[in-house]
Amino acid sequence: MAEHGFGRQVGRRRHLLGIAGLDPGQIRAALDLAETYISLNRQGGPRDVMRGRTLMNLFFEASTRTRTSFELAGKRLGADVINMTTAGSSVAKGETLIDTAMTLNAMHVDVLVVRHDQSGAAALLAQKLDAAVINAGDGTHEHPTQALLDALTIRRHRGTLENLTVAICGDVLHSRVARSNIHLLTTMGSRVRLCAPPTLLPAGAARLGVEVHTDMRAALKGADVVMMLRLQRERMGSSFVPSAREYFRFYGLDAAKLALAKPDALVMHPGPMNRGIEIDSAVADDLQHSVIQEQVEMGVAVRMAVLDLLTRDLRRNV
Ligand code: ASP
Repeated sequence: MAEHGFGRQVGRRRHLLGIAGLDPGQIRAALDLAETYISLNRQGGPRDVMRGRTLMNLFFEASTRTRTSFELAGKRLGADVINMTTAGSSVAKGETLIDTAMTLNAMHVDVLVVRHDQSGAAALLAQKLDAAVINAGDGTHEHPTQALLDALTIRRHRGTLENLTVAICGDVLHSRVARSNIHLLTTMGSRVRLCAPPTLLPAGAARLGVEVHTDMRAALKGADVVMMLRLQRERMGSSFVPSAREYFRFYGLDAAKLALAKPDALVMHPGPMNRGIEIDSAVADDLQHSVIQEQVEMGVAVRMAVLDLLTRDLRRNV
Protein backbone atom coordinates (compact mmCIF):
# COMPACT_ATOMS: atom_id res chain seq x y z
CA MET A 1 0.00 0.00 0.00
CA ALA A 2 1.27 3.44 -0.86
CA GLU A 3 2.42 5.27 2.25
CA HIS A 4 -0.33 7.85 2.01
CA GLY A 5 -3.03 5.17 2.34
CA PHE A 6 -6.03 4.32 0.20
CA GLY A 7 -8.47 6.78 -1.38
CA ARG A 8 -8.53 10.54 -1.22
CA GLN A 9 -8.10 12.68 1.90
CA VAL A 10 -10.85 15.29 2.34
CA GLY A 11 -11.08 16.82 5.80
CA ARG A 12 -10.14 14.36 8.51
CA ARG A 13 -11.00 11.16 6.67
CA ARG A 14 -10.06 9.27 3.55
CA HIS A 15 -12.81 8.55 1.03
CA LEU A 16 -13.31 6.53 -2.15
CA LEU A 17 -14.87 9.04 -4.52
CA GLY A 18 -13.51 7.70 -7.79
CA ILE A 19 -10.76 5.68 -9.44
CA ALA A 20 -9.24 8.85 -10.90
CA GLY A 21 -6.37 9.80 -8.64
CA LEU A 22 -5.61 6.28 -7.39
CA ASP A 23 -2.16 5.08 -8.36
CA PRO A 24 -1.29 1.55 -9.53
CA GLY A 25 0.05 0.67 -6.06
CA GLN A 26 -3.21 1.63 -4.35
CA ILE A 27 -5.28 -0.30 -6.90
CA ARG A 28 -3.05 -3.38 -6.63
CA ALA A 29 -3.13 -3.30 -2.82
CA ALA A 30 -6.94 -3.04 -2.75
CA LEU A 31 -7.23 -5.98 -5.16
CA ASP A 32 -4.72 -8.05 -3.17
CA LEU A 33 -6.70 -7.44 0.01
CA ALA A 34 -9.97 -8.23 -1.80
CA GLU A 35 -8.42 -11.50 -2.94
CA THR A 36 -8.02 -12.53 0.71
CA TYR A 37 -11.63 -11.55 1.39
CA ILE A 38 -13.01 -13.93 -1.25
CA SER A 39 -12.60 -16.97 1.00
CA LEU A 40 -13.27 -15.02 4.21
CA ASN A 41 -16.59 -13.93 2.69
CA ARG A 42 -17.47 -17.55 1.92
CA GLN A 43 -16.68 -18.49 5.54
CA GLY A 44 -18.82 -15.70 7.04
CA GLY A 45 -16.15 -13.02 7.44
CA PRO A 46 -13.93 -11.68 10.23
CA ARG A 47 -16.50 -9.92 12.36
CA ASP A 48 -14.05 -7.84 14.34
CA VAL A 49 -12.83 -5.51 11.55
CA MET A 50 -15.79 -3.13 11.84
CA ARG A 51 -17.25 -4.18 15.18
CA GLY A 52 -18.97 -1.24 16.85
CA ARG A 53 -18.85 0.81 13.65
CA THR A 54 -21.87 2.06 11.73
CA LEU A 55 -22.22 1.77 7.98
CA MET A 56 -25.02 3.71 6.32
CA ASN A 57 -26.22 2.90 2.81
CA LEU A 58 -27.87 6.02 1.39
CA PHE A 59 -29.35 5.29 -2.03
CA PHE A 60 -31.11 7.99 -4.01
CA GLU A 61 -31.21 5.74 -7.09
CA ALA A 62 -32.29 2.13 -7.63
CA SER A 63 -29.76 -0.60 -6.90
CA THR A 64 -29.77 -4.35 -6.44
CA ARG A 65 -26.19 -5.61 -6.46
CA THR A 66 -24.33 -2.61 -5.07
CA ARG A 67 -26.61 -1.95 -2.10
CA THR A 68 -26.98 -5.57 -1.06
CA SER A 69 -23.28 -6.31 -1.46
CA PHE A 70 -22.29 -3.29 0.64
CA GLU A 71 -24.78 -4.48 3.24
CA LEU A 72 -23.37 -7.99 3.19
CA ALA A 73 -19.78 -6.73 3.20
CA GLY A 74 -20.47 -4.52 6.23
CA LYS A 75 -22.18 -7.36 8.10
CA ARG A 76 -19.37 -9.79 7.27
CA LEU A 77 -16.98 -7.30 8.92
CA GLY A 78 -19.20 -6.92 11.97
CA ALA A 79 -20.56 -3.39 11.31
CA ASP A 80 -24.04 -2.20 12.23
CA VAL A 81 -25.61 -1.57 8.83
CA ILE A 82 -28.42 0.88 8.22
CA ASN A 83 -30.11 1.08 4.81
CA MET A 84 -31.82 4.26 3.80
CA THR A 85 -33.60 4.74 0.51
CA THR A 86 -35.19 8.00 -0.49
CA ALA A 87 -38.72 6.60 -0.52
CA GLY A 88 -39.79 6.64 3.13
CA SER A 89 -37.14 9.18 4.19
CA SER A 90 -37.31 12.93 4.59
CA VAL A 91 -35.71 13.25 1.17
CA ALA A 92 -39.12 12.34 -0.22
CA LYS A 93 -40.45 15.34 1.76
CA GLY A 94 -37.96 17.66 0.06
CA GLU A 95 -35.00 17.65 2.45
CA THR A 96 -31.79 18.65 0.68
CA LEU A 97 -28.81 16.36 0.31
CA ILE A 98 -26.78 18.48 2.73
CA ASP A 99 -29.53 18.56 5.37
CA THR A 100 -29.88 14.80 5.12
CA ALA A 101 -26.11 14.48 5.43
CA MET A 102 -25.94 16.73 8.49
CA THR A 103 -28.63 14.65 10.16
CA LEU A 104 -26.62 11.51 9.51
CA ASN A 105 -23.52 13.24 10.80
CA ALA A 106 -25.21 13.88 14.10
CA MET A 107 -25.80 10.13 14.36
CA HIS A 108 -22.05 9.47 14.14
CA VAL A 109 -22.07 7.25 11.10
CA ASP A 110 -18.54 5.94 10.41
CA VAL A 111 -18.92 5.07 6.74
CA LEU A 112 -21.48 6.48 4.33
CA VAL A 113 -22.08 4.65 1.06
CA VAL A 114 -23.95 6.94 -1.29
CA ARG A 115 -25.57 6.62 -4.70
CA HIS A 116 -27.05 9.71 -6.31
CA ASP A 117 -28.16 10.80 -9.78
CA GLN A 118 -25.99 13.94 -9.66
CA SER A 119 -22.32 13.71 -10.60
CA GLY A 120 -20.28 15.09 -7.70
CA ALA A 121 -22.78 14.26 -4.95
CA ALA A 122 -20.36 11.92 -3.14
CA ALA A 123 -17.56 14.53 -3.24
CA LEU A 124 -19.92 17.14 -1.83
CA LEU A 125 -20.85 14.88 1.08
CA ALA A 126 -17.18 14.11 1.75
CA GLN A 127 -16.65 17.82 2.41
CA LYS A 128 -19.52 18.05 4.84
CA LEU A 129 -19.41 14.80 6.80
CA ASP A 130 -17.13 13.30 9.40
CA ALA A 131 -17.77 9.85 7.92
CA ALA A 132 -15.66 8.16 5.26
CA VAL A 133 -17.68 8.45 2.05
CA ILE A 134 -17.78 5.75 -0.60
CA ASN A 135 -19.18 6.66 -3.98
CA ALA A 136 -21.59 3.91 -5.03
CA GLY A 137 -22.33 5.70 -8.32
CA ASP A 138 -22.83 9.43 -8.88
CA GLY A 139 -24.70 10.34 -12.04
CA THR A 140 -22.55 9.65 -15.09
CA HIS A 141 -19.30 10.35 -13.22
CA GLU A 142 -17.82 7.31 -11.42
CA HIS A 143 -18.64 3.97 -9.79
CA PRO A 144 -15.26 3.03 -8.31
CA THR A 145 -16.13 -0.23 -6.53
CA GLN A 146 -17.60 -1.56 -9.78
CA ALA A 147 -14.30 -0.96 -11.57
CA LEU A 148 -12.38 -2.61 -8.72
CA LEU A 149 -14.60 -5.70 -8.80
CA ASP A 150 -14.31 -5.84 -12.59
CA ALA A 151 -10.53 -5.63 -12.26
CA LEU A 152 -10.45 -8.37 -9.64
CA THR A 153 -12.52 -10.63 -11.89
CA ILE A 154 -10.28 -9.96 -14.89
CA ARG A 155 -7.08 -10.45 -12.88
CA ARG A 156 -8.27 -13.81 -11.53
CA HIS A 157 -8.77 -15.07 -15.08
CA ARG A 158 -5.84 -13.40 -16.84
CA GLY A 159 -3.36 -13.19 -13.95
CA THR A 160 -2.59 -9.55 -14.81
CA LEU A 161 -4.14 -6.19 -15.67
CA GLU A 162 -1.28 -5.23 -17.98
CA ASN A 163 -1.28 -5.35 -21.78
CA LEU A 164 -4.84 -6.56 -22.11
CA THR A 165 -7.25 -5.29 -24.75
CA VAL A 166 -10.60 -4.48 -23.19
CA ALA A 167 -13.58 -3.48 -25.35
CA ILE A 168 -16.20 -1.47 -23.47
CA CYS A 169 -19.34 -1.39 -25.59
CA GLY A 170 -22.76 0.22 -25.38
CA ASP A 171 -24.10 3.33 -23.74
CA VAL A 172 -20.73 4.85 -22.86
CA LEU A 173 -22.18 8.36 -22.75
CA HIS A 174 -24.28 7.72 -19.63
CA SER A 175 -22.03 5.14 -17.99
CA ARG A 176 -20.15 5.83 -14.76
CA VAL A 177 -19.00 2.20 -14.94
CA ALA A 178 -17.23 2.96 -18.23
CA ARG A 179 -15.51 6.03 -16.78
CA SER A 180 -14.22 4.23 -13.70
CA ASN A 181 -13.06 1.29 -15.81
CA ILE A 182 -11.27 3.54 -18.28
CA HIS A 183 -9.32 5.15 -15.41
CA LEU A 184 -8.49 1.84 -13.80
CA LEU A 185 -7.53 -0.14 -16.89
CA THR A 186 -5.40 2.58 -18.46
CA THR A 187 -3.70 3.24 -15.08
CA MET A 188 -2.80 -0.45 -14.87
CA GLY A 189 -1.41 -0.56 -18.40
CA SER A 190 -4.19 -2.09 -20.50
CA ARG A 191 -5.65 -0.83 -23.78
CA VAL A 192 -9.28 0.26 -23.76
CA ARG A 193 -11.47 0.37 -26.84
CA LEU A 194 -14.78 2.16 -26.52
CA CYS A 195 -17.55 1.21 -28.91
CA ALA A 196 -20.94 2.88 -29.27
CA PRO A 197 -23.15 4.55 -31.84
CA PRO A 198 -21.98 8.16 -32.33
CA THR A 199 -24.94 9.43 -30.27
CA LEU A 200 -23.80 7.42 -27.24
CA LEU A 201 -20.14 8.42 -27.23
CA PRO A 202 -19.10 11.26 -24.90
CA ALA A 203 -17.61 14.34 -26.58
CA GLY A 204 -13.83 14.21 -26.38
CA ALA A 205 -13.78 10.44 -25.75
CA ALA A 206 -10.48 10.10 -27.62
CA ARG A 207 -8.82 12.40 -25.07
CA LEU A 208 -9.42 9.74 -22.38
CA GLY A 209 -6.47 7.74 -23.72
CA VAL A 210 -8.64 5.12 -25.40
CA GLU A 211 -9.42 3.95 -28.93
CA VAL A 212 -12.87 4.98 -30.08
CA HIS A 213 -14.95 2.80 -32.42
CA THR A 214 -18.42 2.91 -33.86
CA ASP A 215 -18.04 -0.47 -35.56
CA MET A 216 -18.41 -3.30 -33.08
CA ARG A 217 -16.46 -5.72 -35.28
CA ALA A 218 -13.36 -3.54 -35.21
CA ALA A 219 -13.71 -2.99 -31.46
CA LEU A 220 -14.00 -6.69 -30.67
CA LYS A 221 -11.24 -7.97 -32.95
CA GLY A 222 -8.72 -9.83 -30.79
CA ALA A 223 -10.10 -8.44 -27.50
CA ASP A 224 -9.27 -10.20 -24.22
CA VAL A 225 -12.33 -8.82 -22.47
CA VAL A 226 -15.70 -7.63 -23.79
CA MET A 227 -17.53 -5.46 -21.28
CA MET A 228 -21.13 -4.67 -22.22
CA LEU A 229 -23.05 -1.68 -20.86
CA ARG A 230 -26.76 -1.20 -20.33
CA LEU A 231 -28.74 1.33 -22.36
CA GLN A 232 -29.51 3.82 -19.55
CA ARG A 233 -32.94 4.97 -20.64
CA GLU A 234 -33.54 6.73 -17.31
CA ARG A 235 -30.78 9.21 -18.22
CA MET A 236 -32.05 9.84 -21.77
CA GLY A 237 -34.32 12.81 -22.22
CA SER A 238 -35.12 11.78 -25.77
CA SER A 239 -34.37 8.76 -27.92
CA PHE A 240 -30.69 8.09 -28.58
CA VAL A 241 -31.21 4.95 -30.66
CA PRO A 242 -33.67 4.36 -33.50
CA SER A 243 -35.08 1.08 -32.13
CA ALA A 244 -34.07 -1.68 -29.73
CA ARG A 245 -34.06 -4.16 -32.60
CA GLU A 246 -31.70 -2.15 -34.70
CA TYR A 247 -29.49 -1.40 -31.69
CA PHE A 248 -29.14 -5.12 -30.98
CA ARG A 249 -28.26 -5.82 -34.59
CA PHE A 250 -25.36 -3.39 -34.65
CA TYR A 251 -24.29 -3.11 -31.01
CA GLY A 252 -25.73 -6.14 -29.20
CA LEU A 253 -23.25 -8.86 -28.25
CA ASP A 254 -24.18 -12.16 -29.89
CA ALA A 255 -22.14 -15.29 -30.61
CA ALA A 256 -21.17 -14.12 -34.11
CA LYS A 257 -19.68 -10.83 -32.87
CA LEU A 258 -18.03 -12.51 -29.87
CA ALA A 259 -16.28 -14.90 -32.27
CA LEU A 260 -14.14 -11.92 -33.39
CA ALA A 261 -12.62 -11.57 -29.92
CA LYS A 262 -9.94 -13.92 -28.56
CA PRO A 263 -11.20 -17.53 -28.33
CA ASP A 264 -11.04 -17.35 -24.52
CA ALA A 265 -12.38 -13.79 -24.22
CA LEU A 266 -14.23 -12.87 -21.03
CA VAL A 267 -17.75 -11.47 -21.30
CA MET A 268 -18.70 -9.00 -18.57
CA HIS A 269 -21.71 -6.85 -17.69
CA PRO A 270 -22.18 -4.74 -14.53
CA GLY A 271 -25.92 -5.48 -14.44
CA PRO A 272 -28.78 -4.98 -14.62
CA MET A 273 -28.81 -6.58 -18.08
CA ASN A 274 -31.24 -5.82 -20.85
CA ARG A 275 -31.25 -9.24 -22.47
CA GLY A 276 -31.86 -9.05 -26.21
CA ILE A 277 -30.89 -5.35 -26.33
CA GLU A 278 -27.19 -5.04 -25.47
CA ILE A 279 -26.52 -8.74 -24.94
CA ASP A 280 -27.96 -11.96 -26.26
CA SER A 281 -29.27 -14.25 -23.52
CA ALA A 282 -27.28 -17.22 -24.78
CA VAL A 283 -24.02 -15.23 -24.57
CA ALA A 284 -24.84 -13.86 -21.11
CA ASP A 285 -25.40 -17.42 -19.84
CA ASP A 286 -22.52 -19.10 -21.67
CA LEU A 287 -20.16 -19.98 -18.85
CA GLN A 288 -17.32 -20.63 -21.31
CA HIS A 289 -17.03 -16.85 -21.57
CA SER A 290 -19.45 -15.12 -19.23
CA VAL A 291 -18.13 -14.11 -15.80
CA ILE A 292 -21.17 -12.00 -14.97
CA GLN A 293 -22.11 -14.00 -11.86
CA GLU A 294 -18.50 -14.04 -10.69
CA GLN A 295 -18.48 -10.23 -10.92
CA VAL A 296 -21.29 -10.22 -8.35
CA GLU A 297 -19.33 -12.42 -5.94
CA MET A 298 -16.18 -10.33 -6.39
CA GLY A 299 -18.33 -7.29 -5.54
CA VAL A 300 -18.71 -8.45 -1.95
CA ALA A 301 -14.97 -9.18 -1.54
CA VAL A 302 -13.97 -5.82 -3.05
CA ARG A 303 -16.41 -3.92 -0.85
CA MET A 304 -15.10 -5.72 2.24
CA ALA A 305 -11.58 -4.66 1.26
CA VAL A 306 -12.58 -1.04 0.67
CA LEU A 307 -14.45 -0.86 4.00
CA ASP A 308 -11.46 -2.37 5.77
CA LEU A 309 -9.02 0.10 4.15
CA LEU A 310 -11.14 3.17 4.86
CA THR A 311 -11.68 2.31 8.54
CA ARG A 312 -8.05 1.48 9.38
CA ASP A 313 -7.48 4.95 10.82
CA LEU A 314 -10.39 4.40 13.26
CA ARG A 315 -8.85 1.16 14.48
CA ARG A 316 -5.49 2.85 14.97
CA ASN A 317 -7.06 5.64 17.01
CA VAL A 318 -8.80 3.43 19.60
N1 ASP B 1 -25.38 -0.86 -11.99
C1 ASP B 1 -24.51 0.02 -12.74
C2 ASP B 1 -24.61 1.45 -12.25
O1 ASP B 1 -25.31 1.72 -11.30
C3 ASP B 1 -24.71 -0.10 -14.21
C4 ASP B 1 -26.08 0.22 -14.71
O2 ASP B 1 -26.97 0.67 -13.95
O3 ASP B 1 -26.28 0.05 -15.90
O4 ASP B 1 -24.00 2.31 -12.82
